[in-house]
Amino acid sequence: MQDLNAFKQFLSEPRKIVITTHHKPDADALGSSLAWHHYLVSKGHSSTVITPTDYPDFLKWMEGEKDVVNFEEDAELTQKLMEEADLICCLDFSALNRINELGEIVRSTSAKKVLIDHHRNPEDFADFSFWDVKRAATAELIYELIVNLGDRELLTKPIAACIYAGMMTDTGSFRHPSTSARVHEIAAEILTLGVDTSEIHRLIYDASSEDRIRFLGFALSEKLNVNRKLRTAYIVISADELKRFNSKTGDTEGLVNYALSIENVVFAAIIIDRKKAVKMSFRSVGTFSAADFASTHFNGGGHFNAAGGMTEWTLEETVKHFESLLPQYEEQLLAVK
Ligand code: 5GP
Ligand code: MN
Repeated sequence: MQDLNAFKQFLSEPRKIVITTHHKPDADALGSSLAWHHYLVSKGHSSTVITPTDYPDFLKWMEGEKDVVNFEEDAELTQKLMEEADLICCLDFSALNRINELGEIVRSTSAKKVLIDHHRNPEDFADFSFWDVKRAATAELIYELIVNLGDRELLTKPIAACIYAGMMTDTGSFRHPSTSARVHEIAAEILTLGVDTSEIHRLIYDASSEDRIRFLGFALSEKLNVNRKLRTAYIVISADELKRFNSKTGDTEGLVNYALSIENVVFAAIIIDRKKAVKMSFRSVGTFSAADFASTHFNGGGHFNAAGGMTEWTLEETVKHFESLLPQYEEQLLAVK
C-alpha cells in the first residue's frame, strides 16, 4: 500500500495528466483509460487520453472517446502533451515497447509515471505501480484504485460502463478462469448503478460490418488448419485477403477463439500479414502457456492463456516456423486436461 498513499498524496493537487495505453487498443485498454480519465477530471485534474494507434469503431460509443488523441494522427500534439505532463499513466501494457515510438517519448519525459496493468513481466520504469497479474482486466484495477483512493461515490454511470466493457471483454464475457468472485461483485455493483450491460454487450459484439462477417466465414471455411494430433488449430491470413474483405481495425479480433472452440483443440493461433510485420495471436487452454510460447519464439508475451507476438519474416516463413515448433510441445499439448 506504499504506492497507494504516495500516489494519493501526489494527486492531492491539480495535475496535468496524460493517459496512454497499448497499440491497437481493445475494450479494456480504451475502457480503463477513459474511466480513469473521467475520474481524474472529476477530481480537478486536467487529463488527455493518447493512443499509439487507432482502435475499432465498436469502441466509439464510450463517453469521451471523441477527445482521444491518436499519436499516429497527431504526433505534434502528443509530444507537447507528454512534455507538459506532470504524470503519465500507462494502462493495460507492461512494457514501453508495446506502445511503439510513444514508448521512447514516455521514457524521456520528466513526468512521474504510473503503471496500472495486469500483464506478465512488468518493466521497471514507473514511479508508482498498481500491477496485479491475477486481475482479469485493467478496468478491474481501475475500479479498485478509485475505491481504494476513497472515491467510490465518484463512480458515475459513464465510468462504470467503460469499466464493465473492459471486464466483460477481457474475461471473454465472464467465462475465462480469470473471472473471480470479485469480478462478479464489481459487475453487480455496476448493474446497481443502472448501467445497461446488455446494451454494452450489443454495442461491442453486434456491431460488425457485413464485410467482417463474410471475412469470418471465409477465414473459417478456407483458412483454418487443424492439427488433430497436436490439438492445435490455426488461421493464416495474407495482406491481400485483408484487403479483399476491406478489413478494418478490430475486424480480426476474436477470430482466434473460433479455432480454440474446436473440440479437443487446446492451442490456437492466428497469423496475419500486416505488411509492416507478421502479427500473431495465441490462445490456449489450461496448463499450456500461450505466453511462454509467444515470448520464447515470437518476441511477444501477454497472459498465460492469451498472448501475442510478431516476426519481421514473410508470412510463409513465419507459418513454417510456427508449424516446425509444434512437435516439440507434443507432450505439453497432450497433457492438457
Ligand atoms: P491479442 O491476441 O488479443 O492481440 O492479445 C492477447 C494478449 O497478448 C493481450 O493481453 C495483449 O496485450 C498481449 N499481446 C498481444 N500481442 C503482443 C505482443 O506482440 N507482445 C506482447 N508482449 N504482448 C502482446
Ligand atoms: Mn487487459
